[in-house]
This record gives sequence, C-alpha cells and structure tokens, in this order.
Amino acid sequence: MSLIVQKFGGSSVADAESIKRVAKRIVETRKAGHEVVVVVSAMGDTTDELLDLAEQVVPVPSGRELDMLLTAGERISMALLAMAIKGLGIDALSFTGSQAGMVTDARHGSARIVEVSPKRVREALDSGAVAIVAGFQGFNRLTGDITTLGRGGSDTTAVALAAALDADVCEIYTDVDGVFTADPRVVPTARKIDRITSEEMLELAAAGAKVLYIRAVEYARRHGVTIHVRSSFNNNEGTLVVGPKEGEIVEEPIITGVSADLSEAKITVVGVPDIPGKAAQIFTVVANTNVNIDMIVQNVSTASTGLTDISFTLPKSDAEVAMTALTAAQPDIGFASLQHDDQIGKLSVVGAGMRTNAGVTAKLFTALFEAGINIEMISTSEIRISVVTRADTVNEAVRVVHTAFGLDGDTEAIVHAGTGR
Ligand code: ASP
Ligand code: MG
Repeated sequence: MSLIVQKFGGSSVADAESIKRVAKRIVETRKAGHEVVVVVSAMGDTTDELLDLAEQVVPVPSGRELDMLLTAGERISMALLAMAIKGLGIDALSFTGSQAGMVTDARHGSARIVEVSPKRVREALDSGAVAIVAGFQGFNRLTGDITTLGRGGSDTTAVALAAALDADVCEIYTDVDGVFTADPRVVPTARKIDRITSEEMLELAAAGAKVLYIRAVEYARRHGVTIHVRSSFNNNEGTLVVGPKEGEIVEEPIITGVSADLSEAKITVVGVPDIPGKAAQIFTVVANTNVNIDMIVQNVSTASTGLTDISFTLPKSDAEVAMTALTAAQPDIGFASLQHDDQIGKLSVVGAGMRTNAGVTAKLFTALFEAGINIEMISTSEIRISVVTRADTVNEAVRVVHTAFGLDGDTEAIVHAGTGR
C-alpha cells in the first residue's frame, strides 16, 4: 500500500461532469489499495472571476479580505469532489487549508509555508477515507487569518502535503500529457519527457514552461518529493520529476528541453559613464522597486567617449515602474537616455548533459544563424543557455533549435486544447 497525493488543477475540475470524472479516477486509486490525499484548485476560471468581482467593488481590495474571498474557490471544488466520491461509495472528507494544518507566514496573497501539520488528514486516512484538501491556502498562527500562497499555489500545497505525510509520489494532474521537450503547440514534433531532474525542471519553469510552478518544484527538491506530472484525461504515464541522484541512472541527452518566454521586456540605459559604481547605482534603483531582473548585458565602452550602454530584461508588467524609478534617478546617475523594448522573446535550452558537453553554445548559435535569427542578448547557467531575439522570431527559433539538438519525435504530439494548467 502506498500513500499517493493527487493534485487536480482548475481545468480538471471545471464543471460537474469533470468533477465526477476526477472522482472516478480517485476511487480507482483508492480501490487499488492506496491511501489517497487529493489537493484541488478552484473550478475553471473561478479565481480570476473572484478577483474580477473584488475589483469591481473596490479598486484595491484589502489583502486579508481578498484571501478570504479567493480561498472560497477551492472550498467549492473540495466539497463537491468529496460529495462525488461519497456518491461512488467511498468515504471522503474535505478540509480547508487551515484544517489540514498548512501554517504560513502572514503575507496575504503570497504567503510562504512555514509548517505543515496534517493531523486531521492523517486521521481521515486512518479511518479509510480519502482526504480532500483545498489547495493554495493556509493560515497564520499569529494573526489567526487565512492566507493564500499566490497564483498556482495548489501545486505547492500538494508537494508540501506529500512531504509532510511522507507520500510515495505527488501526482500533478493537468490537461497535457506531461512535460514536453518544447511547447507542442509551437513544435508539433515535441516529445514527452519521461524523467527530468528537479534542477532541469526548475530551469525550464523559470524559462517560461508553464506546466509546473517553480515554488512547487523547489519545495519538492528540498524535501525529496517525487512529482509525477500527468494528464487527467487518460491513463498514460506522464513525466517523473526526480532528484539529481535518480536522474543520473538515465542516460542524459545533452539538451532536455527548449522553451520560449514572451513575457519579458528589455530596458537599455544609454550613455552610462564607464566608472566604478554606476551599475551598482542603476540596479539599486531597480531593486528598490522590488522588480526582479533577469538578463544583463553591458557593452564595451568606446575609449573616446568613456560611455557604455547597459541593458537588462524584466517582466513586461514591471517595466513601467522601473522606467519611472530610473528616470527619477537620471540626474544622480548621469546617463543619457532610456530605451524600452517590449518586442523581445527569450529562448532557453536546458539540459544537465550540457555540463559535460562542450560545443552546445556553438550548435545553438549555428542553428539560429542558419535560420537568419539575430541574437540580442545571451546568458548562461551551468545547465541553461538563454538568448533574446525579436518576439516574432522566437517560435521559429524554438523549432529550429529543437531540430538541431535532435529532439524531434517521429509523431505529432497530441494536444487536448490544453492550457498546461
Ligand atoms: N486557484 C488558484 C489559482 O488559480 C490556485 C491554483 O490554481 O493552483 O491561481
Ligand atoms: Mg486555477
């Protein structure tokens, strides 16, 4: 008998029919003799609809009340799912985040899990019931208030419960078959990855792959939880996200996956005096706005002017704040002007095999050159290379790079009109 945590995302419990389908699947696992803990998201677009509603009432809702409101979404799906399972003759009990012992810090809207004491969940399992837990939520001991973990937080709830209950596996059910070598909607010959290390998964998620949330992968890596990403629409094996040790047994391809990210913009600070302290000043100004920057490039300055340009990328939605802060600091820093470019795309190739393989960069750049695609910025980590291109060439770039690294499969990937959530 194993203990299995199963997480179902919003698209898997979007309506009554889907809830009944998911209930059947859970009952099958229970009947096979396993203990089952289920984590659910809110039905379909409920969270977005609730957010919308709140903004209609007041432009900037209070964080405490917003969390109260949003957590209602998961309460609806957990209760309906418990009813559906009971309807199939298996006992089931639903729990809110607080009932399930998800203790967080007090940050409304982006709380961090500080402790998990799933006593009632354990008792429910011991009584033979399936335990259903509302994802994405917890409570703070000091304030006694309900909190949420941030968008997509149910993945983290599932992994945290799996760690606390010492589950054998944390299954994340979604509407795609697993993690792919590239987005199948962009690269029809993309292949499902059978095993990927958490390290590679983190890089892919950070580079724009949306199938798993970064925080959940980080939590899993730290606590040694095995994640199995799979479809709730079929019984196929999905993708196992494993620790680095388990990853070693598999023969590693050099590149595991290619991803594209169209969510970033580029800011260029033009004519920066090339003297010590200027980069520090620029990035202190940006850091004070709480904006996360990604890639940075500084040009070589021409000796005649003693000026250089510094470019960096950041989420599109943060560009305005950063531009405003830099403009205000212009007299102090003494640069010439600012440029804002939101027509960029970022392509990343990720693979643990890259560590022991020279020539990956050359191969990547050659593939882009042959397709006539210009590279504007480059950054690397041990197991990732990212390049910035024009936004309208990034999908083509993903396709040629996918082919160049031999990732194309023989068949076309099946996409169930999935969102990957
Ligand atoms: N319902 C929340 C959201 O849409 C949490 C989740 O789906 O994981 O962000
Ligand atoms: Mg959702």
